[in-house]
Amino acid sequence: MIEYESLAKSNAPLMEELEAAASRVIRGGWYVLGQEVSSFESEFAEYLGAKHCIGVANGLDALILSIEALDLPKGSDILVASNTYIATILAIIRTGHRPILVEPDIETFNIDPLLLPAALTSNTRAICITHLFGKPCRMDAISTFVNEHGLKLIEDCAQSHGAKFAGQMTGTFGVAGCFSFYPTKNLGAIGDAGAVVTNDEELADRLRHLRNYGSKQKYVNEYIGSNSRLDELQAAMLRVKLRHLNKMTDHKRALADIYFNNLPNWLTLPRIRDNEYDVFHIFGVRNDRRDEFRSWILDQGIKTEVHYPIPPHKQAAMKNILNGHYPIAENLHATEISLPISFSHNGEDIIKICKIIEKFE
Ligand SMILES: *Cc1c(COP(=O)(O)O)cnc(C)c1O
Repeated sequence: MIEYESLAKSNAPLMEELEAAASRVIRGGWYVLGQEVSSFESEFAEYLGAKHCIGVANGLDALILSIEALDLPKGSDILVASNTYIATILAIIRTGHRPILVEPDIETFNIDPLLLPAALTSNTRAICITHLFGKPCRMDAISTFVNEHGLKLIEDCAQSHGAKFAGQMTGTFGVAGCFSFYPTKNLGAIGDAGAVVTNDEELADRLRHLRNYGSKQKYVNEYIGSNSRLDELQAAMLRVKLRHLNKMTDHKRALADIYFNNLPNWLTLPRIRDNEYDVFHIFGVRNDRRDEFRSWILDQGIKTEVHYPIPPHKQAAMKNILNGHYPIAENLHATEISLPISFSHNGEDIIKICKIIEKFE
């Protein structure tokens, strides 16, 4: 059996370093917002080439607190991809704004910049893009659009740690880059964690308040805040894993190359255009017989995933909130299948998967 992913196996090579870091924190006796968190914040900001990083509890909170910190007029329209993970849309709703869905480019799964002008309303104040599956969005066209219309750009980078467009890290194009370090992400903690990066000093300051009861000084509350702090243990784990992130990304990119060179052409492979440095959080391929193919390949001993089986506008939770037809999102959700691609797999695993796939008829 080839697993879709094994976190224990992915983390095993780092075990000594992780255990030493955990032990340092436990013995140190300071567990929430301390030295480990501020060190991780500077190290991650430096890795991305951003000025500030603010650790928070998870990726959803990174999005919610960023939108909140922008202080947009209540009920603003915010553009968002129709096929993103539900969290991006939830963040817009939870902050009192209205998601306007924009269809993706079917070849890249990412928001289609050509469709942005038609989606714009007089009430649109921001756009929240997702660099889905580890592939950067078309930041040249998107930045032009954002500047032309004076919009705030928020990047959902939960799947794109280290992904670059034209050499620039995702998360540094907009006013806020929102990261999740959920254990399965390319940079994953040993539990929940998240962060926002920004070059805007005022926004950074507001976020440092918002994540901690609206307070930066103990018992002095300047804003209506939340409790969304990053803990020392997770920060220490992330500092270890950040040191190995480039190596892990190279590994995934090498596995992706094997897929590109060996998969049969009846599967539609991810499209890579110029200027895109894709970190392959997910290797998503497409086929009209997805469900049949998926159960067949499971019988051959290979576990896969679907990202995602139900598009956001078809979710029960979104009834009466997201209306309309989104045929491209629906098509992607009906045809996508994610093949194994993780630090716990090696080249032989991927060759084996490709050989098995060739036999499907
Ligand atoms: C994982 C993910 C999130 C949410 O992150 P959590 O840490 O689970 O809250 C948000 N957006 C996208 C695109 C994701 O993949």
